Amino acid sequence: MDKEKEKRAIKYLKSFEPEDEPYYLCYSGGKDSDCIRILAELAGVKHEVYHNLTTVDAPETVRYVKSIPDIIINKPKLSMWQLIVKTGMPPTRLMRYCCTTLKEGGGKGRLKIIGVRWAESYNRKVNNDIVKIIGKPKTTQKEAEKRGLDYNVTKSGGMVLNNDNDENRRFVEHCYRTTSTMINPIVDWTDNDVWDFLNYYGCESNPLYKCGYKRIGCIGCPMNRRTQILELIRYPIYRLNYIRAFDRMVLARKEAGKPYNNWSNGEEVFRWWLDLNDENLSIEENMLKEIDSKGWEKL
Ligand code: SF4
Repeated sequence: MDKEKEKRAIKYLKSFEPEDEPYYLCYSGGKDSDCIRILAELAGVKHEVYHNLTTVDAPETVRYVKSIPDIIINKPKLSMWQLIVKTGMPPTRLMRYCCTTLKEGGGKGRLKIIGVRWAESYNRKVNNDIVKIIGKPKTTQKEAEKRGLDYNVTKSGGMVLNNDNDENRRFVEHCYRTTSTMINPIVDWTDNDVWDFLNYYGCESNPLYKCGYKRIGCIGCPMNRRTQILELIRYPIYRLNYIRAFDRMVLARKEAGKPYNNWSNGEEVFRWWLDLNDENLSIEENMLKEIDSKGWEKL
């Protein structure tokens, strides 16, 4: 295990610890959030562990999250099924409205700990560092300029800081209540670092990893078509719930005088959503055919 990275992560958490309230630790139920949870305990920093229930989490994840001591579970105002009807479209790669509503809420005005890693994707590499600040970009950048900070601006207009020196700490202290400020203690960890760390500390982690999952996410998430199809086969009740939600969505669109794409029912929307083109096959047969043709063996 890379003890240096562990020590550094603990140092970051201690450095930025707010004086008068606990950190808001964002816990998803995946391996990275187990790392930050254990690191916060090792660092001895005050923290509260929060999980945002998405309503499309795998049952295994829900059970695992509930087993975490003192976890605080936030329930969303609208479920995924209600959100689909309200938005009038299924969530897609280009319209990820569900993330903002179901995954990213909570912790306003609190200093957050998150478990984002560069190794996860190119976007994460360019948009993250030890400290990430989103919100009030002009005011925040002006203040950073005034203090002579070394920072980068991300594509989405956020700011990242890449160390925990005194000036950065004071800056974070100054702005975290009015922005969304996140401390990223494992940003440079590799997958091996994560697993070595969890094994070393005896963390069982989400049981889905033992079923071959590489990542834990929402069932039916459109960001990865391969896992989307495999999961909708594995969890038929969620498939049915999506189809029912799409049924209600089509009806709501018609009632509002805004029919779309000649959709007449939820099954048609579902086929469109997953790009299942063989009309002679049932939805399930179509999904299985996709898997056979692509040779998708594992999640
Ligand atoms: S389904 Fe995907 S895009 Fe939607 S909230 Fe979940 S992770 Fe985000």
